Amino acid sequence: MLPEHPPIHTLGRYLRAQYGRKLRRIMFDIGTDCPNRDGETGYGGCIYCDIDGSGTGAMRNQKSLLEQWEEGLKRVRRSQPEGPAAIAYVQSYSNTYPDLLPLAGALDFLSDKSNIAPILSVGTRPDCFGKEAAALLKSYGKKFSEVWVEFGLETTSDEVQKVIGRNDTLANYHTACELAHQHDLKIVTHTLAGLPGEKMTGLAEQVKETIRAGSHGIKFHQLMVLRKTKLESIWRKGELDLLEVNEYVEMVAQVLTRIPPEMVVHRLVAENPAESYLAPADWPSRAKVHGMIEKKHRALVAHGA
Ligand code: SF4
Repeated sequence: MLPEHPPIHTLGRYLRAQYGRKLRRIMFDIGTDCPNRDGETGYGGCIYCDIDGSGTGAMRNQKSLLEQWEEGLKRVRRSQPEGPAAIAYVQSYSNTYPDLLPLAGALDFLSDKSNIAPILSVGTRPDCFGKEAAALLKSYGKKFSEVWVEFGLETTSDEVQKVIGRNDTLANYHTACELAHQHDLKIVTHTLAGLPGEKMTGLAEQVKETIRAGSHGIKFHQLMVLRKTKLESIWRKGELDLLEVNEYVEMVAQVLTRIPPEMVVHRLVAENPAESYLAPADWPSRAKVHGMIEKKHRALVAHGA
């Protein structure tokens, strides 16, 4: 038996402590774009990004915000039939690009739903986050209990950013985080393990920068090959080494021993719908990987890592 230890400060545990219940994300696609797809910084997107910009594709299927809300609400109400139930997550593409009009409309729409969705979360690229975007989000600070801005970091190496066709920089990430702090926004940083060209210490370096930036939360993802991405053709040619599940578990468990106890772990492992997922094919379910990370983390803490 391993001794008792502080558990990983997961989002579920944070929400139960703050709101007495679990809140589930309702994802929104507000029809924005990404400078890395339209030619501003690159064409066609990051090598791992699918046609829906890592989101739901709702706008491509002409679903209004109201339809997206109603669908999401039906789903979250199954487990929370009344009261607060959701995190309104404006997810797809870069939601502060090319301008702030779609986001302003979405915030207006969501602001009178904060009794059900008390947390607002908006994802964007660091290079698309300026003073106006920060001020817009801050202006909704009193409508919601919390306003989060989610930044993709994905690698600390500007060289790897070029290899993966992402074309952002570490300096942009830190500038965006400073702006978020100045505007009282909570930051959630997305990290990614296993990119081509990335060192095995890549995840640890991302976590170091995430801590340095004062990020309030962190999401861990493993590199996955999805259909209709540039990565799919690289993988089909046999030119891609993907992480083994045990390597990923070890990496994440190790870095978890180094993050501040108050940092909220929003995600330990990524998953994608089966219809778009290709590889790695031999990983166990997300719940199982979650359990493996918790167990490994427990062991590392018990042995004074
Ligand atoms: S920055 Fe995000 S939305 Fe843009 S191409 Fe990369 S993953 Fe897709």
